[in-house]
Amino acid sequence: MRETTRLTSATFNKPRSRRAVNVGVERGSTVLMESAEVLYDDDIKPTYGTEGLSTQRELCRLIADLEGAHEAFILPTGLAAQTLPIFAALKVGDHVLAVNSAYRPVRRFLDSQMQRYGISVTWYAPSLSAEEVLALAQDNTRLIYVESPGSLTFEIQDIPAIAKLAKARGILTLCDNTYGAGVLFKPLEHGCDFSMQALTKYVGGHSDVLMGSVAVNDPKLAKLIYDAIKAWGFFTGADESYLAIRGLRTLHLRLQRSGESGLKVARWLEDRPEVLRVVHPALDSHKGSDVFNRDFTGPNGLFLVVLKGDGEATSHRFLNALKLFGLGFSWGGYESLAVNCEPQFLGRHKITPEDHAPLEGSYVRLYVGLEDPDDLIADIEQALVQIA
Ligand SMILES: *Cc1c(COP(=O)(O)O)cnc(C)c1O
Repeated sequence: MRETTRLTSATFNKPRSRRAVNVGVERGSTVLMESAEVLYDDDIKPTYGTEGLSTQRELCRLIADLEGAHEAFILPTGLAAQTLPIFAALKVGDHVLAVNSAYRPVRRFLDSQMQRYGISVTWYAPSLSAEEVLALAQDNTRLIYVESPGSLTFEIQDIPAIAKLAKARGILTLCDNTYGAGVLFKPLEHGCDFSMQALTKYVGGHSDVLMGSVAVNDPKLAKLIYDAIKAWGFFTGADESYLAIRGLRTLHLRLQRSGESGLKVARWLEDRPEVLRVVHPALDSHKGSDVFNRDFTGPNGLFLVVLKGDGEATSHRFLNALKLFGLGFSWGGYESLAVNCEPQFLGRHKITPEDHAPLEGSYVRLYVGLEDPDDLIADIEQALVQIA
């Protein structure tokens, strides 16, 4: 069966009759056992709520299926799904190579927390080739952290090439696959060791759940993640897991609609006189769109528009003039969102879509959701007219 069918077919909880279609929410700490003899039997799981009951287990099974993984794990946030595998895979004295266009909080984690544990990091520019990235590897490099397209700046990396060269040197690769949502891109099939995503975004899909997942193929790495989750005591609730399962049922439809509408809005913006540039991975004007189109089955609904204007002042006027777009962080929900990016670009990493070039114009990130794209275009048009 194809992926859409597998994610939506009601195969859970046989027998096939006289049951609700979707998975139930099973809450619990204590799990009652059959007899005294099996209380300490390691082969029987779960014996306690922290191991995940039926709702969490069904979600993990579906995510593993989606990511083409041997096993998948869930964590309370997307960020926890980034930090836990890093912590689990590394030890004192190890070195990480990480792309500097990565999701900002993970940059903070590597720079502050990991340094205290004697783990060093080298940030590399997303424009480097796979060979140039590997040339930065040291004898103690244990992990390469990749994300493509870059959060906020959308640079494309050749992940299959990086993963291949890393593997040859015995270095692990961890891919943030939130953009692809497990559907548009399959990091494990392209040679990565860990694929994580913020289920908070497209899988949750309704801006009402925070959660992350880590998927792996190597049983040894699966044990590493399992042991770390158990040792640290991270637990993800059944109610949130239920919401993520519910989101998975319509993931393909929402992602496709959001991606198509986003491209329509982006193309419309490209022709506007108020616009300097549109930064969208699937547009021909985007550097690396050939690699993007080779590896991804399509774009999601997220991109950057650079308006002609006076930095943050113009971005603010534009955002405040929008009526249909909500002003807020995150993306992947049903509703369209907008944020200006200057404070993030001007932070300590000074990342811009041109790899450290000076900022020119006003930077707005748009997330196109499930509304009619023509209504969204009309909203943007009235905002552009207002600020002209
Ligand atoms: C949102 C996001 C995360 C973190 O997810 P949270 O659930 O908000 O912690 C990680 N990576 C990317 C690319 C994201 O957009």
